[in-house]
This record gives sequence, C-alpha cells and structure tokens, in this order.
Amino acid sequence: MKPTQDPHPKIDGIRVDIEALRRLSHECRPSNCSVRKSCCKTYEVIVDNGEMSDIIGAMPRAAHYAKGILQDGDLVDPFDDADDADACLTTHEDGMCIFAWRDRKGAILCSLHSAALDLGVDPYQTKPKTCTLWPLYLIEGDAPRLTVQEDAYAFACNKPATGIPVQLDPGVSEILDAVFGVAFREKVGRLIARK
Ligand code: SF4
Repeated sequence: MKPTQDPHPKIDGIRVDIEALRRLSHECRPSNCSVRKSCCKTYEVIVDNGEMSDIIGAMPRAAHYAKGILQDGDLVDPFDDADDADACLTTHEDGMCIFAWRDRKGAILCSLHSAALDLGVDPYQTKPKTCTLWPLYLIEGDAPRLTVQEDAYAFACNKPATGIPVQLDPGVSEILDAVFGVAFREKVGRLIARK
C-alpha cells in the first residue's frame, strides 16, 4: 500500500500547503485595481514594531505619492492599535489603505513601494510582510502554515493554473524569494516537481 503523502510538509519550520501553492497563478497588475477589487482596500494590515520603524522611515518620500499621509504639512500617525504588540495601518473611510495612491490612469499603487524604488531600496524592506506575501497567507501559531488566502481568486491578479503544474508559477516564486528566501522557494519547488 502506498503511504499517504503529507499535504502540508514542513519546510524550515513552516507547514506548506503544497497543493494550494501549486494551483495558484499570480501576476500583480495595478491597472486591474481601477475597475476590480483591490487588495489594498480589502484587508486589515497588521504590522509589528520592526515594520513600523521601516514604514516611518519611508514616509517622507511616500508622501510624494499618498497625499493622505500629510495633514497641514505634517506626516500623520499611520497606525491604529491592533493589540499590545502590534498595530494596523490606518485606512480612509472607504477602507483603502492610507498608503495607497492612484496614478494618472487610475491604477492603485503602494506609496511605500514607490518610495523604496525612488530611494534605491528593496521595496520588500519598506512594505509590511503581509502585503508582500499576499495572495499567500501565513497562519501563525506553534506550527505556522503557509497557504493561499481564502478569497484570493476573487481578485483579477489571481487565477487557477491550468492542468497540474510541476513547477511554481513565476509570480508565486517571486513572493517566496522575497519573504522566505531562494533556498526555501527551491525546496517548495522540488516538492511540487515530485508530485
Ligand atoms: S501598505 Fe501598500 S501594499 Fe500594503 S495595503 Fe497599504 S498600499 Fe497596499
């Protein structure tokens, strides 16, 4: 009898939902956000202390794009309390993140990302980890599990891959490289190729 394969094998201490990652095809296209659902208007973004410092550091440049983070010439406090240790990003009344901005064509972009590019810094150092990770999602806990956000396919930038892919989608690979590193992504890729 063939042994049942673990659907969530552990890689570097993280249980990975291999099938969910295998099925996902992702390409961030901000122009879609002008007419369709935008991730920057959908979720509460929780940030820890380290991320708060990085965000504050990028704010003077981000204010060139997201005018809402300036009030009477001063930078606003962009954080609401989430719990004792963490905070969440403030949103506008319509739910849009305070750091989002629209270009001339209506595309919704992240001012922390734009600021990082201007400053020659890796954008993944200024953006919250949950934003970089989306549409993937890390369920924290004693045994953290990496999977795909439940409603990911409601957004135009995500679609199910055709057939049974034997390699990671390039958009998903880029996310894993940015958040967990190349070695982690290669281990995930090997498991996907093996099935
Ligand atoms: S920080 Fe940037 S990527 Fe994250 S929700 Fe706000 S605008 Fe979007």
